[in-house]
Amino acid sequence: EAVLYVVATPIGNLEDITPRALRILESVALIAAEDTRHSGRLLSHFNIKTPMIAVHDHNERQQQQKIIEKLQQGLDIALISDAGTPLISDPGFVLVREVRAAGFQVAPVPGCCALVAALCAAGVPSDRFAFEGFPPAKSQQRLNYYTARANETRTLMFYESPHRIIDSLKDIVSAFGSERSIVLARELTKTFETFLGGTAEEVLAQVEADPNQRKGEFVLMIEGAPEQDDTLLDPRSSEVLDILLEEL
Ligand code: SAM
Repeated sequence: EAVLYVVATPIGNLEDITPRALRILESVALIAAEDTRHSGRLLSHFNIKTPMIAVHDHNERQQQQKIIEKLQQGLDIALISDAGTPLISDPGFVLVREVRAAGFQVAPVPGCCALVAALCAAGVPSDRFAFEGFPPAKSQQRLNYYTARANETRTLMFYESPHRIIDSLKDIVSAFGSERSIVLARELTKTFETFLGGTAEEVLAQVEADPNQRKGEFVLMIEGAPEQDDTLLDPRSSEVLDILLEEL
């Protein structure tokens, strides 16, 4: 039975691709790539000559039919995106769902993912976290969006673009307060990899002061709000409890 492999590729450092990923990219009949020119550079670096087709947000539905036909012919296919793990703020979800619905096996070939790379080295609580993808691009929407999440107790994780990083940090200061601890991870696995940590206000000041800190790719992590004590009762319930306790 033919398989659709979902293959992670590096997020910067080209050594971060697994031997299994390379073997599968070499052996499948076809690679479905988000951007064939971009992925062409990766494949040629590893001397992989497998043919590619483009599968991106705008043609995912049309291309899925072609891919299912190939699978029906018994041909294995690999799905890759420009960087990291497909489907994680990247195309592929529709394809994976349809390929499964058509009865084919979909197998992960795990590897890089910017959010996991950021989380495992940032020093923020990592036992529970919520990945929220990209925040809204428009200022008012973004502020509302952050404000709606201000009481979240899990670590919050976002991807953010270099054009919006300053405005986004300003909105974080407004929504979460200047004292909330955050970490900004930049250029992971690349030459200028940086982790900036501190209060929201401190990190904003550092990024404002140094134009180099605004360049590249970013993962934003916001520590969760303190846990509310579940044992605290609302005032009326505690009144009732007091009365009951007196009766004991
Ligand atoms: N599928 C990818 C993954 O597995 O992480 C994410 C794709 S998303 C379109 C691209 C965003 O991921 C960037 O804008 C940035 O926020 C984040 N990202 C990707 N590579 C990164 C890196 N090397 N350092 C920091 N952030 C990165």
